[in-house]
Amino acid sequence: MTKLTELTITAALLGLKTKQFSAAELVADHSAAIIASRSLNAFITETLDSAAERAKISDQKYAAGTAGVLEGIPLGYKDLFCTKGVLTTAASHILDGFKPPYDSTVTARLDAAGSVMMGKLNLDEFAMGSSNETSFYNAVTNPWRRRSDPNTPLVPGGSSGGSASAVTAEMVMGATGTDTGGSIRQPAAFCGLVGFKPSYGRCSRWGVVAFASSLDQAGPMTRSVADAALMFEVMAGFDPLDSTSANLPVPDTRAAVASTDLKGVKIGVPKEYRIDGTNPEIIAMWEEGVRWAKAAGAKILEVTLPHTKYALPTYYVIAPAEASANLARYDGVRYGLRVPAASLDEQYEATRAAGFGAEVKRRILIGTYVLSAGYYDAYYRKAQQVRNLITRDFTEAFTKVDLLLTPTAPSSAFAIGDKTMDAVTMYLNDVFTVPASLAGLPAISIPAKLDSAGLPLGLQLIGRAFDDAMVIRGAAVLEKSAGFTHRPHSIAG
Ligand code: GLN
Repeated sequence: MTKLTELTITAALLGLKTKQFSAAELVADHSAAIIASRSLNAFITETLDSAAERAKISDQKYAAGTAGVLEGIPLGYKDLFCTKGVLTTAASHILDGFKPPYDSTVTARLDAAGSVMMGKLNLDEFAMGSSNETSFYNAVTNPWRRRSDPNTPLVPGGSSGGSASAVTAEMVMGATGTDTGGSIRQPAAFCGLVGFKPSYGRCSRWGVVAFASSLDQAGPMTRSVADAALMFEVMAGFDPLDSTSANLPVPDTRAAVASTDLKGVKIGVPKEYRIDGTNPEIIAMWEEGVRWAKAAGAKILEVTLPHTKYALPTYYVIAPAEASANLARYDGVRYGLRVPAASLDEQYEATRAAGFGAEVKRRILIGTYVLSAGYYDAYYRKAQQVRNLITRDFTEAFTKVDLLLTPTAPSSAFAIGDKTMDAVTMYLNDVFTVPASLAGLPAISIPAKLDSAGLPLGLQLIGRAFDDAMVIRGAAVLEKSAGFTHRPHSIAG
């Protein structure tokens, strides 16, 4: 018999409705999986006792016919989402002991739909990273291993690495992630999952610890496109508490998920994403994706996004600039850690010196520099101008096509420790994900195939702003073509 932890959210909801098992059983099995897989370090905080209590309420709701759309489904929340009364760390020492007095809008909506929070998931500190190695709570391990080298632990990607690892290892059925420059899509690709970054403005940023406010967007990480659509519809929607929240109806994605062909859909292949020196296995996977799309009836067109090569440097000016402003609030007075000192200024300095890790300090320094009076025009203003050009490239391409198809990441998962010595090498991971972030576009990663080492590779689809349903449609069809059913061998239990 299929273990309950192997089910998709869609299958589990059916099982709960038809009384094949109870929410209490579903949650108990996931709690056992979380305990069995603690060595992956996916969770910062487990909330297994409250989850067991919540599951009992879900069973009562099923009995009373008042179940929510995600009633009884065990989920994990990236520890960047504020959760009332539950430790929220952003994986930073500086938020030591911080228990928010409120919930983020996104997690409040998931809770209200009946889902069961199993705990708070590890991440790169303040979501800054691509490997989940900058966490104050230590690195997360990817459940996947290289076939030829099963003893070397690999990164799960980042920054939503705990989310990716926990969903892959079947500790939770889905997780929230956040994506500022790729942090949902790249870890999804590294772990063989679906990761969806909705259009900027779809999911409220209220109660999500801020990294770069003009880029941050929450989204689901799941084991199927249908599950991602289910979570997305609950998480998304207008929120007056977020001034950049889009006041638009949430699309009904049922037809998109059920779609079996791409007839009448035009898919663009951006030629600038064919970067010299890209791993041939990534190129081959991309070409296979193009063949799948064509076989499903899509019309394939080559398109040009001429400013692509400036996306990474632009992102690494704008994101640190916004981060340096956002992180000014951590002063040892209002939240978390406080290192007492003789004067208030010294207390600020001592707290921030002890509270932030090296990568966060690097971002604050870069951000402060590019915003400083002498350099603002040369760096920050210039980056904003280039951001407009990048957005314009996409607008132009989307006059000809409905979707863009690209690889998600330039490699499969790499070994823990492999890229920590050189920040720029780490930043290069984001080369395919950052452009859509700068333009605020919806983008998804789906697992396409395994590389020669036996590790998952992801395909990315990018859509027009607020055409999230088209992105889900394309993903649902390519998911069927890929038929990716591989699981890592290392799942405990
Ligand atoms: N890896 C990118 C960075 O370090 C993106 C992170 C993210 O999307 N949160 O900034």
